[in-house]
Amino acid sequence: MSTVTNDFEIAGRVSKREVNWEQLLHTAIESSSHGLCVFDGRSRLVIGNEQHRSLYSLASSEVSPGLLAEDLLKSRYARIIGAKVNAQLAEYLAAIRRSEAFRTTYELRDGSFVELDMHPMPDGGFVERHRDVTELRLAEVRAEEARQELIEKQYAIDQAVIVAITDVRGTITYANDRFCDISGYAREELVGSNHRLLKSGVHSPQIFRQMYRCLARGGVWRGELCNRAKSGELYWVDTVITPQLGPDGKPVAYMAIRIDITARKKAEAQLCHAARHDALTGLLNRAALLDDLSERLSQTQARRQKLIIYLLDLDGFKHVNDTLGHAAGDALLKQLSERLVSVVPKAALITRLGGDEFAIVQLSSGNERKEIQALAIDLLQVIAVPFSIESQEASVGVSIGISISPLHGLTAPELLYRADLALYCVKSEGRGGFQVFEDKMRSRAQARDRLVNELRASVARGEFELHYQPICEAGTLRPRGAEALVRWRHPSRGLLYPDEFIAVAEETGLMEALGRWTLERACTDAVTWPGEIKVAVNLSPAQFRGGFLFDSIIGVLMKTGLPPHRLELEVTESMLLQNREENLLLFRQLKDIGITFALDDFGVGYASLGSVVSFPFDKLKIDRSFTSELPSKPASRAVVASIMTLARGLKVQVTAEGVETVEQLQYLRSQGVEFVQGYLLGRPVPCSELVLTGMPYADGLLDAS
Ligand code: C2E
Ligand code: CA
Ligand code: CA
Repeated sequence: MSTVTNDFEIAGRVSKREVNWEQLLHTAIESSSHGLCVFDGRSRLVIGNEQHRSLYSLASSEVSPGLLAEDLLKSRYARIIGAKVNAQLAEYLAAIRRSEAFRTTYELRDGSFVELDMHPMPDGGFVERHRDVTELRLAEVRAEEARQELIEKQYAIDQAVIVAITDVRGTITYANDRFCDISGYAREELVGSNHRLLKSGVHSPQIFRQMYRCLARGGVWRGELCNRAKSGELYWVDTVITPQLGPDGKPVAYMAIRIDITARKKAEAQLCHAARHDALTGLLNRAALLDDLSERLSQTQARRQKLIIYLLDLDGFKHVNDTLGHAAGDALLKQLSERLVSVVPKAALITRLGGDEFAIVQLSSGNERKEIQALAIDLLQVIAVPFSIESQEASVGVSIGISISPLHGLTAPELLYRADLALYCVKSEGRGGFQVFEDKMRSRAQARDRLVNELRASVARGEFELHYQPICEAGTLRPRGAEALVRWRHPSRGLLYPDEFIAVAEETGLMEALGRWTLERACTDAVTWPGEIKVAVNLSPAQFRGGFLFDSIIGVLMKTGLPPHRLELEVTESMLLQNREENLLLFRQLKDIGITFALDDFGVGYASLGSVVSFPFDKLKIDRSFTSELPSKPASRAVVASIMTLARGLKVQVTAEGVETVEQLQYLRSQGVEFVQGYLLGRPVPCSELVLTGMPYADGLLDAS
């Protein structure tokens, strides 16, 4: 190393003139933050600084000046990790020999990284610079790891998430793979197209207006949207749209991240369908009716339109269930629903409210009375056609109650209630027809409600009386029995007749209690009557259905002491048809202990001879309606004649009810009727006024024969 003359000004301790360059260089080299080594033309170490030693953890003996480069390199390489240490060494030595610059990075055993820069010097020899690049290297590694992770995440995101970027006008500028997959469009088709391409038509314009307003303010919008794929199929996405803001704070683009929620939506839709539909018929159910009707009401009332509500209740459906079984009943309901769908206008709602009740909601186009007339008649006709169920025929009728919005009410419950009142009117006037609600129905319904409450209270307090009407032998007019007829001692209205309360008692479940009272009262009274005089008690269907009839009759007979053969039970045919087998058994049990049965109101109603034949009646009672037309009306005469023929064939006796005139009495006698009952002989009277001894009813009548 030669001494160099130079004008350099170097910090304080060196003078301008006499510079010990070797010393200076030494100091500079030692104070460098990098490791430095200087080799001469023969590759011998001139100087190696402390930094260099410490980087490679070399002892001073390993770095003494004059050392051959190769030896130093060997010491260093001993501290380096790498499979190809020898090859690296050879490569480096070759570079030195060729005086070529060389750069490499070593990973040392202590975990650090050192970068080596070798620069050949112009007049031979070379300089090495060693730099600790551990931090840098680690940062690089971390960056690489982060990049890998990002790639993985991006991949995961692309698999799960639909990503789209649009410009402010909605033109798609980016679409990831998942977006292409789900939409069925190629990337080229999506990019450059407006996002409207995916519009499903499912949403109202409001939802988009609200979205644009939110985004324009720089907000993030989130919601569930339905999009249309290229195939036309719809898919649902949970969407988050984030605006990317420009320097002025205004959006320059939108990034939409979407998750496919089609499967969830389908499951939700299925659940929703099940919650809103009747499982048997597939029609809407009651809950759906209440929802949809309310919605339609607010819409139509805002547009000043009218809605017509029809309530349908089948007549005779119970009979189908009882006689053909529940499976047949279900089949009938299904067929009936199909018929409803076929006659009701497409836009109308059809719901099954439960059991055999249906409701229809129809939008009126203005002439509601005409529309009601048309649809109600269609409904009556289409339901009247017999149903064929497993090669059997079954028929039902229908009663329809109708209300109109806003005429009869503004809310769903109000309108349904009014339609129900109208329906009740149809039912009470003999079923099978339709009526539109009228105000007077409300007062009728209120009156009925009041009656039900009063009746309930009276049953609890026993505010009833029995009147007895004598039943006489037709020939002698001797009293043979008396029929018990119930009267209601109403707290304010006086004495009420059965027509006014029996049906209500039946419908409200009060008949069982009332029937029990009647039976006990009648038996109690009858024990006081002379000898063989019978008491006839009317039974109601509710008593048959109750299941305790046998027990309660036995109980009453024991309690009152009335011999069973003095009790006659009057039943009507229709009561026996339901649960036929059970009734037949009950019938036999009661007959076995001596109780007799009379078939009441014979000739009207079902008139199915089957029950007379299969149930062992003791008596038939010719209905009052035939007696009243005797002897002038040929049809009634024919009925009486055939009843008599039947009775003789079955060996049962006959009572004629409602005998009011001598002519009727004479005619009935001539036909061979055994017993007569009617105003001619005696009106129903309280027990205290009833005369059963002697011949109190024969006055002047016996001569008439
Ligand atoms: P029903 O069993 O046919 O009773 C005969 C009805 O005809 C009685 O009416 C009686 O007063 C009336 N009647 C009797 N003779 C004549 C007559 O010559 N001319 C006319 N026009 N009518 C006559 P009531 O007492 O009003 O009873 C009506 C119906 O109420 C009875 O018809 C019966 O079905 C039912 N009923 C009466 N009491 C009871 C009862 O305790 N239990 C049950 N379940 N039903 C009863
Ligand atoms: Ca009767
Ligand atoms: Ca009768």
